[in-house]
Amino acid sequence: MTTELGWEGYRTFLVDRREAESETVTSFYLVPEDAGVLPSFRPGQSLGFSLDLPDRVVPVIRNYTISNSPRDSSHYRISIKREPPPANQPDQPPGVSSNYFHDQVQVGARLQVRAPSGQFVLRPEGKGPVLLLSGGIGCTPMIAMLNAIVDSGSTRDVWFVHGVRNGREHAFGASVRAAAQAHDNIRAHICYSRPDDGDILGEDYDSAGHVNAELLQSLLPDTSAQVFLCGSMPFMKALYNDLIERGFDEFQIVYEFFGNACELREPKPKQVVADMGLTSDVEFNVEFRQSGVSASWTPSSGTLLELAEANGVEPDFVCRSGMCHSCLSVILDGGFEYIHDGVVTPMGDDEVLICSARPTSDLVIDV
Ligand SMILES: Cc1cc2nc3c(=O)[nH]c(=O)nc-3n(C[C@H](O)[C@H](O)[C@H](O)COP(=O)(O)OP(=O)(O)OC[C@H]3O[C@@H](n4cnc5c(N)ncnc54)[C@H](O)[C@@H]3O)c2cc1C
Repeated sequence: MTTELGWEGYRTFLVDRREAESETVTSFYLVPEDAGVLPSFRPGQSLGFSLDLPDRVVPVIRNYTISNSPRDSSHYRISIKREPPPANQPDQPPGVSSNYFHDQVQVGARLQVRAPSGQFVLRPEGKGPVLLLSGGIGCTPMIAMLNAIVDSGSTRDVWFVHGVRNGREHAFGASVRAAAQAHDNIRAHICYSRPDDGDILGEDYDSAGHVNAELLQSLLPDTSAQVFLCGSMPFMKALYNDLIERGFDEFQIVYEFFGNACELREPKPKQVVADMGLTSDVEFNVEFRQSGVSASWTPSSGTLLELAEANGVEPDFVCRSGMCHSCLSVILDGGFEYIHDGVVTPMGDDEVLICSARPTSDLVIDV
């Protein structure tokens, strides 16, 4: 059933339009096949996709951020970067889903889509300055946030700071510049790490090199902004720690991983578990059945995923925040609970997202 808040499970959408944003990024405009209500979303939220690919036994599950403004009520737009093989491993296959979208998903294609979800969101009506800080394809939530700020008439001071290789890979450049030119409260700085000969300083980009502490210091001398951070893991780690060193409070910085997550600084999930008031002598046995590993869980073990990793088990994961379903596993016996809000709970009662769960009894998992 679809309501203004969302829908359960997957709903069929049609690709209404495709648009190249750069040589590597293409946008897909999606409308519901049933022509029913299109629930609103908060800027920064993403959609989950289940792709039935011809050569795959199980569906490929991926998330893509909605890159338009919540004000556009006729469609969702997602913007996908084509993932090539890693530069140092050119023999490996390119990214499955992103290349499928670029090569196969044409206008009229049908897609299975989960409702907008995610906690990496901006409230345009909030107060105080905002720094939207992105690297590469990490710009998509920032574009939605910037569009939402413009559309809501918010007067929040916004810095849109973006690092990308060059003009060929730079998506949404013209619309960001237009927003900055039209609104006194919006400023943008684009950094090209390897500008092409044809890229024009001052027109296409504002500085050459990487986004770094010195650049941020020169743009935002004070530390009052709320920071939204998304990019590659090295980009996020470096800038997160630079900001903390400069005196930003960790609660001012919210971030989202598009690939494998890691601790940027503090081990957050463990902290949440500690905050639950559990006595430290609680102990459960967790059996990872497929791996033939059993381990003892105590509150300091963190999530089931962390317990697995600490004991040499290597389950799949991506977001580590209960959204992308990469770590979805089956419970064979025992109980669990989620340790934070915002988990996109799986359909099956026996399914668990181990990145965000802890046991409430002895547990057997099919991992
Ligand atoms: C909340 C969220 C929002 C997101 N929003 C966006 C968005 O707006 N836009 C966007 O483009 N992406 C977004 N992503 C990322 C997206 O979900 C996918 O992870 C991304 O498109 C890559 O998926 P893929 O299937 O193309 O690549 P995968 O098949 O997952 O491969 C990833 C990389 O691994 C390499 N690889 C494959 N096999 C091997 C191997 N054996 N050894 C070494 N390397 C290998 C591939 O070449 C590729 O470079 C988001 C992710 C999350 C969690």
